[in-house]
Amino acid sequence: MTARRFVRQTVLPELGEGGQQKLGESSVLIVGCGALGSHTAEILARAGVGRLVLVDRDVVEESNLHRVSLFTPEDVGRPKAEAAADHLRRVTPDGRIASHIAHLGVDLAEELVPQVRIVLDGLDNLDTRYLVNDVCVKHGVPWIYTAVLATYGMTMPVLPGNGPCLRCLFPVPPTPGAVPTCAEAGILGPVPAALAALQAASAIRILVGTPELGAGKLVHLDLWTGRAEATTVDRAPSCPCCGARRFEFLAHPPRTTALCGDSVQIVPRRGGAVDVQDLAARLGPLGQARVAHGVLVAEIEGALLTVFPDGRAIVKGVSDPNRAQALYDQYVAR
Ligand SMILES: [Zn+2]
Repeated sequence: MTARRFVRQTVLPELGEGGQQKLGESSVLIVGCGALGSHTAEILARAGVGRLVLVDRDVVEESNLHRVSLFTPEDVGRPKAEAAADHLRRVTPDGRIASHIAHLGVDLAEELVPQVRIVLDGLDNLDTRYLVNDVCVKHGVPWIYTAVLATYGMTMPVLPGNGPCLRCLFPVPPTPGAVPTCAEAGILGPVPAALAALQAASAIRILVGTPELGAGKLVHLDLWTGRAEATTVDRAPSCPCCGARRFEFLAHPPRTTALCGDSVQIVPRRGGAVDVQDLAARLGPLGQARVAHGVLVAEIEGALLTVFPDGRAIVKGVSDPNRAQALYDQYVAR
């Protein structure tokens, strides 16, 4: 990449040539490649971050296109991590981009987090955020919590050893159904773009070596009313994660995760690989079943099952994890 490409940001005293070099030497993990994650990834790829690692478990849907600038209608049905990586390679031909079509479970988080300088939030569920919080605090890797819903969003850097963690802010996850999802409450297209910009700016500031400015700062932004608030969150002395270093979400990961909308993810027991072509042939007589982009999509008993070669499945049209697990056990992992 030529220095000319970055001249408008190296002229900033906050970055300079030294900051640009640090960005080029940095690895960043982005968990989730929906609107929030892919906007964040694009900003950081254009800013000259040396290596981006993308993780996403789902495929692009038509209902994503109103808010995701990286995807086109041709990407519908493709795994998001793969589609995002392909587009980003065109943005930065000599940037290093790795993609994982996978759920960020304990094993993958333990493998990837220690390899990067920072972890960024593109997630649509709290279970995985609490796992990210545990793994990042355990390994001393900064991460940025960012969430969006309806017309607003919020973001807060977590800097292990300096300020609060996610569990200082929200000690326990809300009970299922207590917080509306994007499918229920909707999402205004510019909201993830705005929060991705805030998150990416915090990431650049941390990567070039001035993290202390953001420690404990929670920014809440409503794009409809234009209201922005910044509050300082204190570290909770009784926090089980950053206080007692008890990593409960690492120790007891759930097998099912309720996702945004009426959908549930099922993670197989170890060694759950599935031959999606065989499965399509088996499920074909029961309803619509087809394989596209290496992923099986089948309509069964009013639910839409998306099954990945690693044995993971996302069951849509079902909000009860037990019913989703039952469908999975009956049709996928017999
Ligand atoms: Zn904490």
